[in-house]
Amino acid sequence: MTLAADTDVVWAAYTAAVGPVDAATPDDRRTGCARCGHTTPVMFPVGQVISRRFTGFESWTNLSARKLCQVCAWAYRDRTLRVDAHIVTRDPATLRPATPALLHQVLSTPIGTDTAVIVPLRPGRKHLIPDARWGAVTVDDSRLVWQEHDAARLAVMCRLRSHGFTETMLRDTAPTYSVVRRPPADRWPQVFEDWNLLAPWRHADPWWEVGLRATR
Ligand SMILES: [Zn+2]
Repeated sequence: MTLAADTDVVWAAYTAAVGPVDAATPDDRRTGCARCGHTTPVMFPVGQVISRRFTGFESWTNLSARKLCQVCAWAYRDRTLRVDAHIVTRDPATLRPATPALLHQVLSTPIGTDTAVIVPLRPGRKHLIPDARWGAVTVDDSRLVWQEHDAARLAVMCRLRSHGFTETMLRDTAPTYSVVRRPPADRWPQVFEDWNLLAPWRHADPWWEVGLRATR
């Protein structure tokens, strides 16, 4: 494992996708990477990596520097990272594109502190992996700590979809009658109970969107 792979999601993802890299922490921080502070054998001028419209400086720890290390440069340049959902783990370091099935599997329990989930809700718009943290789902404008009750709501959403409720119907405050009556009558109370359990997500867009992604 490389120097920063156990702390930084980007470094773990790079280790998994590209391989280990010789990293150092420079005495003079200005010679380090503007985002992570480390140096790697190859360093790139910031202007070669990010565009003028770039706004993601929040995650940069070393703003006086003028270069990016090869690890951070990769994170900004790899287009698939910006477009597709991914799961990153640190021990061992893995990076996997997240199909709805994999996303569902990972989100069906609280997210462990060795896992980071990245879900671009508007694909391609923003770099998410530089802002990702262990134990959280990072989406376009927020980071969700995925807890027991979120995993439970995902199961509820999945169950309702299996009855035939569409994504649009699920948004309604009450279930559509023509769909409610499809399962046997003894299961209708469960449908209504599930409907209410999903209520908090109807007013919390990032959770709602992530839930939909993971149940498609
Ligand atoms: Zn860096």
